Parts: sequence; C-alpha cells; structure tokens
Amino acid sequence: MAAAKKVSIPNRLLAALSREEYQKLLRVLEPVKLGFGEILYESHAQIHHVYFPNDCFVSMLTTVDTGHAAEVGLIGSEGMIGIPMALGVAVSPFRAVVQGAGTAMRMTTLNFRRHFKNSVRLQKEVFLFTHLLMIQVAQTAACNRFHVLIQRIARWLLMTRDHVNSNEFRIPQEFLALMLGVRRVGVSVAMCNLRDRKIIRYRRGTITILDHGGLVTIACGCYKTVKDIYTQAQAQFEIPRLGSRPSD
Ligand SMILES: [Zn+2]
Repeated sequence: MAAAKKVSIPNRLLAALSREEYQKLLRVLEPVKLGFGEILYESHAQIHHVYFPNDCFVSMLTTVDTGHAAEVGLIGSEGMIGIPMALGVAVSPFRAVVQGAGTAMRMTTLNFRRHFKNSVRLQKEVFLFTHLLMIQVAQTAACNRFHVLIQRIARWLLMTRDHVNSNEFRIPQEFLALMLGVRRVGVSVAMCNLRDRKIIRYRRGTITILDHGGLVTIACGCYKTVKDIYTQAQAQFEIPRLGSRPSD
C-alpha cells in the first residue's frame, strides 16, 4: 500500500503521537458516533472507555445532593474524556454529557492503561491537557460564584461557538439552564436581552451569533483567561503534528 499520504487526525492528543505510536493505538481505537445529550459517564460511576473527540464536544457536570448539576468543563478535539484514568482512578468525578453531537475515537480502560504506561508522548500530552482542564474547572467555579448570569451565558455561547466552529448552533434553553445550574426563566430573560441588543438571534432552539465582538464584551473575563492559557500552553508544547506532515 502507498504510504506517501498526509494523515489527518482531528484529535490533538492523538495527532501529537509519533506515527508508530499512533498506528499501535489505532488497533485498539474504535470510531463511535455520539448523539446530543448522550451520557458517557455518570458521576461517581465506573469508567469503561476513554474518548478522544474528533468533532464532538462533551460537558463535564458536577452534581450536588439536591440532584442539581452544573457544567464545570467543556472538552472537544483538544482533549480526552476520561482523565481520571491517567491518574490511576477508574471512577469519574463528573457526569459527562455530549453537548455537541459528532464522532470520537474510544478505547477500553484496559487498553488505555496498557498504552499509556508505555507512551511517554501520550503521557506528556494527557498531563498537559489535565493541567489545562484543572484551570478551566477552577475558573468555572469562580465564574459561577462571582459573575452574573448574562456574562456566564455570553461566555458559554462563545465557548460553544469555538467548539462548533460556527456562529450558528442548536441549543434548547432547557439544556442551557441545566448546564449553568440555573432556572430556565433566568436564561430566557438573559437571552431576550441579548436578542434585543442584536447580539444574537434565537429561533426554535437555534442560536445565531450576530455580533461576536459584542458578545465578547458582554462575557466575563473568564472566557478570555481560559482561552489565552490554552493557546499559550499549546504553543509552548507545539511539536510536529502527524496530521500536518507528509509520511515518510
Ligand atoms: Zn466568569
């Protein structure tokens, strides 16, 4: 078979591996389609697979004893779902819910353990991502405490836009309320405010961002803080990507 082709690997962690390591992982990676609202992990439940998103993205929700939950992190193609496995824990502290439908590569926890132990590159990438995820979770905890709902909604819409890579996406208000851990009526008021200011259009569950700059101005600084840290860390860590060079 001809080997002189460019290989496109959407997931950043997988794309950072050497060709040999990636080929080894491919034998145990399984492509899967993930639908909106699908629960990959329940909080405090056993992890059976780790996921490397291609174009889907997944919310990490933390739950409290009243049954309420709030989003503390959002993971897309820059990362991996199942970070506790890299730290030697096979139980998820978060509920993981698919927010953006799409595809991912997944592997069993058994295979992940085996390959993770033997791949220094995979370890480095996963540890860097763990560090970034911790920053995102901590920033979101502070955001939930100190920033008002409209700022948080603006931040959330911008984060979603970055993952979808489009100014238009479908999100029911009930889902948005669930992610932010607030009442739906509060979300409605904030969305009407954004719509009246012509920042967004909202029609039957589909949101269109009309004024990106305006939305950034309304969002709290948490959006830019986390985004800048991700960009800086990834630039410092940049290595030739398997997906961006011709094969040998
Ligand atoms: Zn904030």
